[in-house]
Amino acid sequence: MARAFLLLGTNQGDLYRNIEAAMKELQNSGVAIKKRSRICKTKPWGKKDQPDFLNVVLEVETGCEPLELLSVIKSIEMAIGRKPDPVRWGPRVIDIDILFFEDRVIETKELTVPHGEFLNRPFAIRLLTEIAPALRYPGTRRYVSEYLEL
Ligand code: ADP
Ligand code: MG
Repeated sequence: MARAFLLLGTNQGDLYRNIEAAMKELQNSGVAIKKRSRICKTKPWGKKDQPDFLNVVLEVETGCEPLELLSVIKSIEMAIGRKPDPVRWGPRVIDIDILFFEDRVIETKELTVPHGEFLNRPFAIRLLTEIAPALRYPGTRRYVSEYLEL
């Protein structure tokens, strides 16, 4: 089994319901949720003229390989009602991103891990360090907490 960290975000429809639905679908797909951060409200990022988001970080355990996990995530996003081809960084019913997958560094066309925007999003760093304070940033010897802005 592999340990991964996921970031969920939503800013369309019933936000708490979307988060709950995504967590339920993950569990139903064999992605076990081991820990959950608090649910945190954030300002839109990149494209500012849209509603605030709710975000949560999950520690999960999965038998999937990274690309299989990505495909599970994409089907869950579609099942919960995300439309294909949304505006880049635009409003969405649910967005599920893989932050870390074990301590692996992956750079392919479909998948970048650690997630390419992780270090640009202080709330993501904060929520992750809250549930995994001793975690190191993959590919480095640094603790994730060292990237926190105070
Ligand atoms: P956003 O960048 O806002 O999350 P999308 O959710 O639409 O946008 O993702 C676009 C594409 O990013 C996905 O189709 C997926 O192939 C790719 N991607 C690359 N790295 C990751 C990752 N770590 N987690 C999730 N998707 C990723
Ligand atoms: Mg995404």
